[in-house]
Amino acid sequence: MSSDNNGAGKALRYAVVGAGMAGILAAIKLKERGEEFTVYEKAARLGGTWRENRYPGLTCDVPAHAYTYSFEPYPEWKAFYAKGDEIQTYFEKTAEKYGVMPHIRFNSEVVSTVWDADRAVWKLGLVNGEQTEADVVIAASGVLHHPNLPAIPGLETFKGHAFHTARWDDEAPIEGAKVGLIGCGSTGIQIVTAINKKVEKLVHFQRSPQWIMPVEQFEYTEADREAFRKDPALMDAIRFSDEYIGNVRRFTDAITDFHSPEIKQIEEICQQYLDAKIADPELKQKLTPNYRAACKRLVYSWSYYDEVQNPSVYVETGGIERVEPNGVRMKDGTFHELDTLILATGFKADRFIRPTTVLGEGGVSLDDVWATRPTAYYAVTIPGFPNFFMLNGPTGPVGNFSLIDIAERQWDYIDQLIGLLRKGEATTVVPSTAAHENYEERRIAAAKNTIFGSGCASWYLDATGVPSSWPWSYDAFAEAMAAPKMEDYVVQ
Ligand code: NAP
Repeated sequence: MSSDNNGAGKALRYAVVGAGMAGILAAIKLKERGEEFTVYEKAARLGGTWRENRYPGLTCDVPAHAYTYSFEPYPEWKAFYAKGDEIQTYFEKTAEKYGVMPHIRFNSEVVSTVWDADRAVWKLGLVNGEQTEADVVIAASGVLHHPNLPAIPGLETFKGHAFHTARWDDEAPIEGAKVGLIGCGSTGIQIVTAINKKVEKLVHFQRSPQWIMPVEQFEYTEADREAFRKDPALMDAIRFSDEYIGNVRRFTDAITDFHSPEIKQIEEICQQYLDAKIADPELKQKLTPNYRAACKRLVYSWSYYDEVQNPSVYVETGGIERVEPNGVRMKDGTFHELDTLILATGFKADRFIRPTTVLGEGGVSLDDVWATRPTAYYAVTIPGFPNFFMLNGPTGPVGNFSLIDIAERQWDYIDQLIGLLRKGEATTVVPSTAAHENYEERRIAAAKNTIFGSGCASWYLDATGVPSSWPWSYDAFAEAMAAPKMEDYVVQ
């Protein structure tokens, strides 16, 4: 029974799909309100992306003190940019502290969720065949979690260890081994920096070079941590510093217009960094992208240009012909003998809650609604899918700034909508088709003008080539999430 301070207190049952950062956030917020909820998690542990990614060098490129829930600052970070395992620990500790662990059902993938209009409930099917119900579904199933495996001929014939970075193989030889690494996004670049000194040889297969934004990494001392423990305001000072939030504002302002002087400044910083660090003209040519900086998501690094010059690293820019049992054959006939082949080839970014079957009003499938592109009204709600809310859903500012900040703001928005249900003022809440069409029209027009649409291939683009990310500024996002426009919702 809801014991909220919002009025009548109608008992609602909530199903949260996914126990990653966003699902834990929803769980904490629901717990605080005394709501009845269950978090369904497909795996045996919480943590989402931080559980699945364990590759060497994994570091979050949002400053650690900005990559925490606003209500749970964490004095214990070891460095300005935190490593993946520390972040996993943070989420585990936080879930324990806020008492949400008993509400999580592990190994319980939701395979279907079907709207029953007569009873205004969602019927959920779990992987073990169990059926359950909820009045409200919170889809917190993450974005970059379906590995994109490259369609390279012969990959299955490789005799050594070949695996995607989100499925790290602890048995794979790295120390003193001949290692191949395909992919130059944030993941591939971080792996280069972490393993180049351990291997006998690292062949980095690069289809497209990346622009690197220089950042500084440093470790916090025990004295720093003690100061953070004593005075949490010091952590807020980092989170809201001009260094961080000012940069987020400048960055999101810059990306909204690829003709802007601000985006040119970003380009200059990246170019100057490349010029300053890479002297060898051949390597420099290999590492110079032929597209605008920030068109693909910028890679933030403090060491890549130093590490890639280690003689153990060879940047291979030729086309891959095929994988053979003992290595990789290039189109020009060159053969790279390898013990281990790492696939840092990214993720299918258009899946969201799928492959879960989601059927809304009239049995309409989310797959059909998303046939052209995944979309949601202000990234949170979908016409025809009442009482269904997404955290980090399609068209949100994924990749532009801290996903935690995004999810918290989206939760505030969702909380206002479910407040109507909780207070008994409504049975269903859903955005109107007209409002969503208007949103998409404006969003797509703006998206084409963002740096992501300036002419490069990346996971930001949908199947039609339109950038799928939030095309406006940080402040525009904050304002949109502050209060839903109720005239755009059908409330029954
Ligand atoms: P990604 O950015 O999508 O990069 C995939 C890489 O694989 C690209 O270099 C791509 O080349 C290459 N590739 C894909 N298929 C290929 C093929 N068939 N043959 C050769 N190369 C191929 O993936 P990611 O590096 O895993 O990063 C994904 C996102 O996760 C990032 O953009 C970022 O948002 C996030 N991430 C964040 C952090 C962090 O520190 N916060 C760390 C890691 C990842 P092309 O460019 O030519 O397509």
